Amino acid sequence: MDTKKIRNFSIIAHIDHGKSTIADRLIEYTGTLSKREMENQVLDNMDLERERGITIKAQTVRIDYKGKDGEMYCLNLIDTPGHVDFTYEVSRSLAACEGALLIVDAAQGVEAQTLANVYMALEHDLEIIPVINKIDLPSADPDRVKQEIEDVIGLDASEAILASAKTGEGIEEILDAIVERIPAPSGEADKPLSALIFDSYFDSYKGAIAHIRIMDGVLKKGMGLKMMATGKVFDATEIGCFRPQTTELQEMGPGSVGYLAGSLKQVRDVRVGDTVTLAEGGVTEPLPGYRGVTPMVYCGLYPVDSADYDNLKDALEKLQLNDAALVFEPETSIALGFGYRCGFLGLLHMDVIQERLEREYNLKLITTAPSVIYHVFKTDGEMVTVDNPSDLPDPTTIDHIEEPFVKATVIVPKDFVGAVMEISQNKRGEFKSMDYLDVNRVMVIYHIPLSEIIYDYFDKLKSSTRGYASLDYELADYQPAKLVKLDILMNGEAVDALSTIVHVDNAASRGRSLAAKLKTIIPQQMFEIPIQAAIGNKIIARENVRALRKDVLAKCYGGDISRKRKLLEKQKEGKKRMKAVGRVEVPQEAFMAILNID
Ligand code: GDP
Ligand code: MG
Repeated sequence: MDTKKIRNFSIIAHIDHGKSTIADRLIEYTGTLSKREMENQVLDNMDLERERGITIKAQTVRIDYKGKDGEMYCLNLIDTPGHVDFTYEVSRSLAACEGALLIVDAAQGVEAQTLANVYMALEHDLEIIPVINKIDLPSADPDRVKQEIEDVIGLDASEAILASAKTGEGIEEILDAIVERIPAPSGEADKPLSALIFDSYFDSYKGAIAHIRIMDGVLKKGMGLKMMATGKVFDATEIGCFRPQTTELQEMGPGSVGYLAGSLKQVRDVRVGDTVTLAEGGVTEPLPGYRGVTPMVYCGLYPVDSADYDNLKDALEKLQLNDAALVFEPETSIALGFGYRCGFLGLLHMDVIQERLEREYNLKLITTAPSVIYHVFKTDGEMVTVDNPSDLPDPTTIDHIEEPFVKATVIVPKDFVGAVMEISQNKRGEFKSMDYLDVNRVMVIYHIPLSEIIYDYFDKLKSSTRGYASLDYELADYQPAKLVKLDILMNGEAVDALSTIVHVDNAASRGRSLAAKLKTIIPQQMFEIPIQAAIGNKIIARENVRALRKDVLAKCYGGDISRKRKLLEKQKEGKKRMKAVGRVEVPQEAFMAILNID
């Protein structure tokens, strides 16, 4: 493939502005898949993505398109996720591209993540083609959106393409713009091979598979290769492109995007961000890596059945291959036994990993409440990082604690500014700035603790702005805060997995609400269960779960056997996600209760 005929591009947008639908239309229009093959939203192919309507993993597709000049072009499309948790995926995809389509909803206009994504594309020096989508909607106002793109983003919108992924309008124009406006890759075929790994996944037949972008040189099937970061030497047993299913090729030149499978059985051998070169006579300098990704939120994952511990480890290793942002290490809890402490980018990321572990690996898990990473400064001058509340050192040895703050950018219609401010203030936010994007919409910036954001900030924002608020946040700094550990005792015993770190001003009320909430969650048992909330040695709240009077089966005395079986079945079902903590059966919900109280 002639490098001049290759165009590598991504699609970036705020969530729901139409990335996936536009991608589908491009694939359909160019006949990459026939109508019959064309499943709805080909690119969102993980079950989970389809159900939730979000793109989690970036997908790559090669599209062949005859340009206006009559020449055939090879367009490599890399779809990107739009959710705030997954910006690292966006960044990785962008490093493999020369250009990006910027999709903006014609009715919604520029949103918080539109901005975040554009900044990232600009960091990677990409040619950006603005596309105003959904112009078929009665509420579409493309002129206003054009103005916003110019005023807020600072891009020239005079050549923005007006499109509707629904009617197909503008799709051909988009394809021509990709060919004409996005530069061809600049690699050289006679240089030694260097290829960037921008994604990876595990295939049970072929082993670890790398998604690669060839920067220089030519990759041929059978070549002896080397991973620069790990030093691992291997043979290219299979190479190819995505159409979107993997299609084998014999060789791939500079600028090509595709996959590489080798004698790589170890999940750890393929590192996203690593450079692939020749085993002998390769390049000496690796390509610039990606922006590093650091987890922001930690939680414990424990198998309900402790026999699943090794399976959980195996599953986490496989998922990690596909997800550089996932980190984990073994942890033990007095209450829950052996498990893993896992780090995530945010709550959705955490939720998705948990669900994938359960669905794809058939594991039943207990997840503990998420925690941010605290910096604890001790009186002896040492600083320790704490991502698990139960690891907080003895308060008498603590000088002060710092917690992570983020810069939160919220975009809302002006009528809701009051609501945004109230919520942010209640969440210990500090007002930074407010700017009008146009006569109707406002961008508000707050400096706010990350721990408050991961609780229910976004849910509250959404519900009090009728869904209009969009949010993006990035880590800003660490600041001192008066924080204490809130413990929960059940039957007089502290349950480590239920401890949380809270601000001293909210500690008493959170303790009371949490105890009250747990009372409704912990099922009644044959004995009374006192639930207490405590700060240090001080009990601040107490509730009782009353003892069960009757046996479950007592009701069907006299024996309708099928009804009896059903009852037992139902009880078993309920137990699936329960963990015995001492003598008390504690359901999954209890560990998340802290997230749902006021
Ligand atoms: P993504 O989150 O950016 O990938 O957005 P999707 O492609 O999943 O689209 C979000 C929603 O907008 C879906 O319900 C689409 O059917 C709808 N949608 C996408 N493009 C258009 C369009 O041009 N017109 C209309 N009316 N709806 C669209
Ligand atoms: Mg999508």
